[in-house]
Amino acid sequence: MTEQVKGISLPAGRFQAIISHCKEYGFIFPSSEIYDGLQAVYDYGQMGSELKKNIRDYWWKSMTQLQDNIVGIDAAIFMHPTTWKASGHVDNFNDPMIDNKDSKKRYRVDHLVEAYSDELRAAGQEAKADEVIAEMERLLAKDDFPGLKKLIEDNKISCAISGTCNWTDIRQFNLMFSTEFGSTVSSEDEDNKVYLRPETAQGIFVNFLNVQKSGRMKIPFGIAQVGKAFRNEIVARQFIFRMREFEQMEMQFFIRPGSQKEWYEKWKTTRLEWHKSLGIPAEKYRFHDHVKLAHYADAACDIEFEFPMGFKELEGIHSRTDFDLKQHQEYSKKKQQYFDNDIDPATGKPYGNYIPYVIETSIGLDRMFLAVISHAYEEQDLSLPAAEAGQPEKSDSRVVLHLPAKLAPIKLAVLPLTKKDGLPEIAEQIMKDCRGEFRCFYEEKDSIGKRYRRMDALGTPFCVTVDHQSKEDQTVTIRHRDSMLQERVAISDLKRIVLESIA
Ligand code: ATP
Repeated sequence: MTEQVKGISLPAGRFQAIISHCKEYGFIFPSSEIYDGLQAVYDYGQMGSELKKNIRDYWWKSMTQLQDNIVGIDAAIFMHPTTWKASGHVDNFNDPMIDNKDSKKRYRVDHLVEAYSDELRAAGQEAKADEVIAEMERLLAKDDFPGLKKLIEDNKISCAISGTCNWTDIRQFNLMFSTEFGSTVSSEDEDNKVYLRPETAQGIFVNFLNVQKSGRMKIPFGIAQVGKAFRNEIVARQFIFRMREFEQMEMQFFIRPGSQKEWYEKWKTTRLEWHKSLGIPAEKYRFHDHVKLAHYADAACDIEFEFPMGFKELEGIHSRTDFDLKQHQEYSKKKQQYFDNDIDPATGKPYGNYIPYVIETSIGLDRMFLAVISHAYEEQDLSLPAAEAGQPEKSDSRVVLHLPAKLAPIKLAVLPLTKKDGLPEIAEQIMKDCRGEFRCFYEEKDSIGKRYRRMDALGTPFCVTVDHQSKEDQTVTIRHRDSMLQERVAISDLKRIVLESIA
């Protein structure tokens, strides 16, 4: 569904409409837009920050409050630089890159080949597209850079800017941002170099023992965290799908060595259920098992989502073995062990001391935002055929966000029919009664029809209209966003109706 421009997928059609909608209605703005923006960095506006917070809260609640054995932390973005040596990020957090000699533009090899395969698919050459991807995965798994370059050349994959196939050799490029600590130090000084964390996971690993001891946690248990991560992504495109500054929602689940297969399967199921609990249909999701495993993993998969540009990674589930804790033990010279006094049925003795294994679930908050909003977005034709409208045919349309009510930025819009006759006073009283429970919005400008449309575009599940009858019998009209059906309800029932829908 993307438009192909010489090997690069650009947002097209529906995707472009969603991006424009996000800006027009205060969901997402390009960062520092008055200076023409900053590539792959975005700001969330008045509606977007609410929606994002609601997604974050929904994840946090289900991963901590609703679990017996998972607690949350909030670690700093800066960490001791040795953390990233130990984790392997200094040496291994690289992506194979290739530069076009004519345009001087740099590409991530997998993105270049994926864009080409998208192009093949768009041209109906499914089989060839699958073949190219399979070959790329095979070569990536072996770090066969000459082979990958040959794949690019043999398929005449060209640069979007220059249009040529004049490529450099493939090299690795580290994705971490760095800065320095202290004011008098030169930027060359490696000792003072600190990194902006490229993932939140390491903040959890280095606090494993602090949390285990202070929280008296017994294995199996988990530590969850939501926070910013930074990656110097080279091909930063596709809106908030791939950003340089983004937010991750991660959970590390510490388990007994040997039980990782069972827990890996359990977390795969649990996480997919979480996604489905939002009412998004199951066919929008699929698992993708990794062929090339990261240096720390013994099994890994992605939950992919059907974004407007096709199925792409939304969440990663990784069986990380004891790699990270072991590395931190070695680099810090501090034991990262747990004493398990449960009895091992095989030996009849306690399991004793070990470094726990870890299953990780890792989802991008911004990607989840994109999944939710792109699924919710609909341009609806509401035209009435001549027979129903009375001659002539009446054309009408609306843009509606079918957001799950619990995620919607505004839950209830309170709209007095007119600005006089005591109606605003009744509406203000409703606001007063409800705003402590959930987010409400008051609007008295414009016609009711226009106000409904605006609320549809923001994804507000309920609008109530206060009219003259409200004065007589303490009732209002409540309008349901998706069906547009309206019904008369008692003002005293409003709070309950909305609360039930977001429970
Ligand atoms: P990709 O292959 O798309 O670069 P990844 O496999 O490097 O992603 P992980 O390191 O597993 O991603 O990170 C976990 C999650 O963090 C991803 O599933 C994704 O939702 C999110 N994420 C990673 N990189 C970015 C980014 N640059 N912008 C937005 N979200 C990201």
